[in-house]
Amino acid sequence: MSVADRLNRFGTTIFAEMTQLAIDNDAINLGQGFPNWPGADFVKDAAIRSISDGRHDQYPPTAGIPALREAIARKYGPLLGRTIDPEGEVTVTSGCTEALAACFLGLVNPGDEVVLIEPYYDAYPAYVAMAGAIPGFVRLRAPGFALDFDELREVFNTRTRVIVLNNPHNPTGRAYSIEELRAVAELCVEFDVLVIADEVYEEMTYGVGHVRIASLPGMWERTLTLSSLGKTFSLTGWKLGWAMGPANLTAGLRSAHQFLTFTTPTPMQHGAVAAMDAPESFFGEMRRSYQTKRDLLASGLQGLGFNVHVPEGTYFLMAGFEAFGFDSDREFARHMAEDVGVVAIPPSGFYDDPAGAANLIRFAFCKDESTLTEALDRLSKLGRR
Ligand code: PMP
Ligand code: GLN
Repeated sequence: MSVADRLNRFGTTIFAEMTQLAIDNDAINLGQGFPNWPGADFVKDAAIRSISDGRHDQYPPTAGIPALREAIARKYGPLLGRTIDPEGEVTVTSGCTEALAACFLGLVNPGDEVVLIEPYYDAYPAYVAMAGAIPGFVRLRAPGFALDFDELREVFNTRTRVIVLNNPHNPTGRAYSIEELRAVAELCVEFDVLVIADEVYEEMTYGVGHVRIASLPGMWERTLTLSSLGKTFSLTGWKLGWAMGPANLTAGLRSAHQFLTFTTPTPMQHGAVAAMDAPESFFGEMRRSYQTKRDLLASGLQGLGFNVHVPEGTYFLMAGFEAFGFDSDREFARHMAEDVGVVAIPPSGFYDDPAGAANLIRFAFCKDESTLTEALDRLSKLGRR
């Protein structure tokens, strides 16, 4: 193996590993989060038109085409309670993934400390390592997965540069309360810390609102808010994302972005302009549909003996598998895949200490109802060990 020391310990991502396991076992894949239906037509049509047009085949500006940056600024200005300058405060990236990498490489110095909330999205500690920074951890614990304010305060110190705040939260499905966001905001102001707000699931909340941390007093100045087309428009393969924040932080992000990808494919940017103009009815319909799927999977799993933590947001659901007599989430995931043909994600890799996962398994419910029903049927054959 020739992998550099800084990345060697991360291995292959659990999402790729579990999708391969699903293919190998001809299993239903409730692991990696991608929908099993086509992406939004009106977004795809706009991208197709831009390809056919013949005038959009060359490099777009590094920060993104002006029409998209303007559309993003128009849409998010009211949501963040301010006027956003498309010139200096919006950057189009190759997915939220690239925006995250650009934040770390463009704004974090070697030796800086970065607060990560466990269970974390697996990419975060890898970016911390790429930036030569030092991670500090705060843990969300079942049931409830609430932020522990004392633990949070303990991890902040004068070397802390950034906290990564994924809200709604993958994998727990938490949508943080205003009190939790205020607690984070207060510490960020006190310790002069930046927030990388990963809000790719911003449109997926069920019965609760989505509060953007950048909209809280004093937080725009210290926050980069990231999102992407992948989740909201069922276009995970497009890798079209964006970052919004004050010009000084945007400059840091762009300093890395220009050398990471330079820019993002033009046709997808034209598609994204249409996405920004989607009517509210599109989002309402999507939320209702996901809530139905969530309820179907949650009640089905509960009936089979799983200890379900019903999510307030995202399209993921964490469930305790204590009833089945397994000690390790990886072992249990392998058993599900090989013996009944359903794949889910073992979340132990989302903790600095894998023991943190404590008998949890993550299911994705971004699948049509017949797939979810078939998965539940298969899971009903799960035996106790
Ligand atoms: N952040 C989180 C929390 C995610 O779940 C995902 C999903 N892949 C991403 C970032 C990456 O988003 P994108 O596909 O837009 O790169
Ligand atoms: N965000 C997706 C998930 O959590 C996976 C993304 C990926 O495969 N890197 O399932």
